[in-house]
Amino acid sequence: MGLLSLGTPLDWHESKKLNEHVRDNGITQLINIFKQHARSRSNDRFYWGDEVEYMLVEIDDEARTARLAIDRDYILSDLSDPDKPESYLKATEKNVSFHPEYGRYMIEATPLRPYDGLSLSDYTYVEENIRDRRIVSQSELPPTIRPLTLTVFPRIGCETFTSPPAKPIGPASQSLFLPDEIINRHARFPTLTANIRKRRGCKVAINLPIYPDINTKLIDDSIPHRDLFSSDQEAFLGASKPGHVYMDSMGFGMGASCLQVTMQASDISEARYLYDSLAPFTPILLSLSAAAPIFKGFLVNQDVRWNVISGAVDDRTFIERDVEPYAGYDFFGGLDVDDQTKEHLINLGGGRGVNGDRVINNYGDTNLKTVDSKPIQKIPKSRYDSIDAYLSDHTYSKKDSYFKEEYNDIFSPINKKVYDRLISNKEFDHNLAYHFAHLFIRDPLVIFSERVDQDNSLENDHFENIQSTNWQTLRFKPPALYPEDMTEAQLQDKPGWRVEFRPMEIQLTDFENAAYSVFVVLLSKAILKFQPDFYIPISKIDENMEIAHRVDSVLNDKFWFKNGNLCKLENKDFAGYDLSWFDRFVNKGNDTLASENVYVNGYVSNGTMDSVKSRSGSIKGESCNESKYTTDAIINGNHEFPGLIRMIVKMIATELAPDLPQCPEKDSELAKRMLRIQCYLSLISQRASGKIPTIAHWLRSRVLTNPLYKKDSKISDPLAYELIKDCEKVSDLDGSKDPQLLKDYFGESLANYLCAHSS
Ligand code: ADP
Ligand code: MG
Ligand code: MG
Ligand code: MG
Ligand code: MG
Ligand code: MG
Repeated sequence: MGLLSLGTPLDWHESKKLNEHVRDNGITQLINIFKQHARSRSNDRFYWGDEVEYMLVEIDDEARTARLAIDRDYILSDLSDPDKPESYLKATEKNVSFHPEYGRYMIEATPLRPYDGLSLSDYTYVEENIRDRRIVSQSELPPTIRPLTLTVFPRIGCETFTSPPAKPIGPASQSLFLPDEIINRHARFPTLTANIRKRRGCKVAINLPIYPDINTKLIDDSIPHRDLFSSDQEAFLGASKPGHVYMDSMGFGMGASCLQVTMQASDISEARYLYDSLAPFTPILLSLSAAAPIFKGFLVNQDVRWNVISGAVDDRTFIERDVEPYAGYDFFGGLDVDDQTKEHLINLGGGRGVNGDRVINNYGDTNLKTVDSKPIQKIPKSRYDSIDAYLSDHTYSKKDSYFKEEYNDIFSPINKKVYDRLISNKEFDHNLAYHFAHLFIRDPLVIFSERVDQDNSLENDHFENIQSTNWQTLRFKPPALYPEDMTEAQLQDKPGWRVEFRPMEIQLTDFENAAYSVFVVLLSKAILKFQPDFYIPISKIDENMEIAHRVDSVLNDKFWFKNGNLCKLENKDFAGYDLSWFDRFVNKGNDTLASENVYVNGYVSNGTMDSVKSRSGSIKGESCNESKYTTDAIINGNHEFPGLIRMIVKMIATELAPDLPQCPEKDSELAKRMLRIQCYLSLISQRASGKIPTIAHWLRSRVLTNPLYKKDSKISDPLAYELIKDCEKVSDLDGSKDPQLLKDYFGESLANYLCAHSS
């Protein structure tokens, strides 16, 4: 989660009176940030850092159960409390920092100080740092409680899934499935949960298609008839959809774990170009990191968490979502609604919203206007969703700017008042003003009474309040406001203009989480170096987001991508920079991964899964500037595009390690580092080509082949225990426990390598 102010959170009815106050002051703070930093801040270093989220899982080998531990959250305060040096120093001495997350069973951990992306060693140190986080948190826990990096706990929301057990009767979420005791104790989190529900006018409703197996009844039979809150009726009034798993609470999404990476650009222009260039890769990396085939005890017919978390914090009203209220839904009859909420709903029903300043921008039309001179209140996306528009200015890069207005082609409302204020300020051009004016269509969700009045020249909490509750695939992070009397050197130490990459699912092992982080960061460095043009219309990226949800999208589907020959990268410039480039570090006879067979045929990868073989050709987009490609082509290249791996390898060869000795010493530190990076890239490359299954694929096949599975799409308690045990063994990389398991997970050669080289 973003910032964690301390204090007394206001209830929604109090809080919403201050919505405009927070937005107005937030924008003043933003303008002050730009005045302070937009032009002055330059030549910043390429710092970066990852965020890994864990679930504390209690495993009872006698009872053969696995539960989410909701009574161990004290370890978080211990690990971040300087007054508890025996815990605190363990973390800080390892350069590790622990943070609270939404779930009481969750912890987030980051490097305490970001990595300095200048030297090669930072790209392998990250794995050590991630491993230390698991070791440090485990040392605060009994051995039966494991910090696991599961994207979704398979039986979240089923009967007795927590330890100690708790009942779903809590007033914050009013969930039929999730007890309020799973929510972080800090007042921010239950308030967030309740306020989303109150603003929306009903509980959130997430419906995922059930995976159809031979004994599957296509019905969610876990929905209880209850008469505790009036919202209990929603499931039977249309909130739950036939054939789907129904989820009704924020915790189903915010209680999932993900992997995020933040990078600092040298200045604002570079940050804007990086943001734009990474946008097309958000669905690709979602697909490649897929790890969530099970929700609420059901095998579902999709592979990732994204639409669940998007729905889990969707605070839009019926009118904003442009859907009919539930059949027979009586807002003011049975519902627990006070007069102010009624007024709010009536206002929305009358077509005038709480914020009369929202307007529509028509497709491709940059003239901002109201429709029929009335502001329209439809909002196409949840506040947790893919990005709506590119950010780049027209001045970046030595070449011509690649950005064209028609790429920002989706229907995306903005706050007109905010736009007008920003555009009239010289620091903001259209795209920048548009970006923030879009974020500021949202209401603040939690306001702390102690933090209503702020010094807008020094504080940025109001800005961050809106900014950090817009949870998009990418986040453009401006610096904070710093005291005017800071020296140049002090400023250098403070964060500058950053881009955060947010779509990825968390992986089971430290090795994989390091690999995906390093891949994104090296890709970003390669983008900054080679300045490719990856722009495609935003609508195409959104289509790709949907595709990325499909079962095995990495194997079966193609994604919109810029026509390879228009990316401003020439294949011939990248020849020789495939993964076999790393072979110069291999000691013959060593059991390294070497270059394997994936790359020997130049641009043709040698996938083993059947569906991979039949994938070729491309489908042209309307404008013929983009076509559909397999992830394999995007990552490993094809006849018209060198692929991301070659971009990265060439960047390493020419920028990170330009002065390699002719015959570098094998077994040297340098060689070890290079081979580790080769393994990271190899993992991504082989997931893209289908040689190594995604976690979602692996988990699904563990279920389908388990004797406890009754082919009914249900994950029983004993079956969930076995899955968690599999995940635990994989996390420990302990091949001695189950060598075949690791080989199924990583493929033979990578599994052998990791067993030989894990510490
Ligand atoms: P949030 O949850 O808002 O994304 P966190 O503090 O949890 O923020 O994570 C931010 C990440 O950014 C961490 O990995 C941290 O190490 C990293 N980071 C910190 N300072 C910088 C910086 N100047 N440049 C790039 N990354 C940074
Ligand atoms: Mg987090
Ligand atoms: Mg964080
Ligand atoms: Mg966060
Ligand atoms: Mg983050
Ligand atoms: Mg302006």
